[in-house]
Amino acid sequence: LISRENHSQRSVIRVGGVPIGPGTVTLIAGPCAVETPEQTLEAAQMAIAAGASLLRGGAFKPRTSPYAFQGLGVRGLEILSDVRAETGLPIVTEVMDASDVDVVAAHADMLQIGTRNMQNFGLLQAVGSVGKPVMLKRGLTATYEEWLMAAEYIAQRGNLDIVLCERGVRSFEPAIRNMLDVSAVPMIQSLSHLPIIVDPSHAAGRRDLVIPLARAGLAAGADAVMVDLHPHPESARCDGPQALTRDELPALASAVRTMAAAT
Ligand code: PEP
Repeated sequence: LISRENHSQRSVIRVGGVPIGPGTVTLIAGPCAVETPEQTLEAAQMAIAAGASLLRGGAFKPRTSPYAFQGLGVRGLEILSDVRAETGLPIVTEVMDASDVDVVAAHADMLQIGTRNMQNFGLLQAVGSVGKPVMLKRGLTATYEEWLMAAEYIAQRGNLDIVLCERGVRSFEPAIRNMLDVSAVPMIQSLSHLPIIVDPSHAAGRRDLVIPLARAGLAAGADAVMVDLHPHPESARCDGPQALTRDELPALASAVRTMAAAT
C-alpha cells in the first residue's frame, strides 16, 4: 500500500490543513515535553517566530529511565489543545499505548509513534483505525524494510496519511546520541510514496548540531524538519541540551527558508 510501485507521484499529507510532501518544506517545532501552559504557549510563539506551521510537544513521554519525567498525560493534551486554540498551530503529539489512542486522537492533529514503538504492531493497528494522520518515527536499529513494513501495518487499517520520520540510528560514536541517516531520505523516496521528514534534535541530542543536520536533511530532499525548542532549556524537564533557544530562531528560520528556496 505504501510502496512507490504503482505511484508515479509522491503523496502530500495534510495535517490540520498544513501540507507535508513534495513541493513544500514544512517546519514542525515545539518543546520536547509539555510542562506548563505558559512554557507550551511560549514555545509555540517561538515556533511561529521561526516559521513553523505545526507545533510538536509530548504529553506522554517515553523516557529511558522510569524515574525521569514521564509527561503530563491527558493534562498535557489539554494544554496543547488550548495552545492550538490560541495560536492556530495544529498539533503533533506522541501516543505510547493503544489504550490512549482515542484520547490522544481527540486532541491531536497528527499522532506520533516514537522510535521505541515502531514495531508495536497493536499500537500501529490502533492508530491506523483512528482517522488521523500518523508520524512514524524510525526505530533505533530498524532497516528501511522494517520501517516501511511498520507503516504498512497502519496503511492496512485504511489510513494512508502517514509521514515517515528519520530521527537517527544507533551508532558506535558516543559523541552524538544517534546518527542522522541522511541516506534514508532519498532511499525512502525511492521505495515509498509517503512523505519523509527528519528530526535532527533527537538524532544529535545537542543543540549545536541541530541546524547543520536540519540543513543536511533538507538538502537530501526531506519534506519537513521537526526540531525541539524551549523558552528556558536550562530548566527543561526533558532533553534541554538539544532544545534550540530564542537566539537560534533566526538561524533556524533562515536555514529552512534557504533550503526551501533551493528545492
Ligand atoms: C520525541 O519526538 O519526543 C521522541 C521521544 O522522539 P524519539 O521517539 O525519536 O526518541
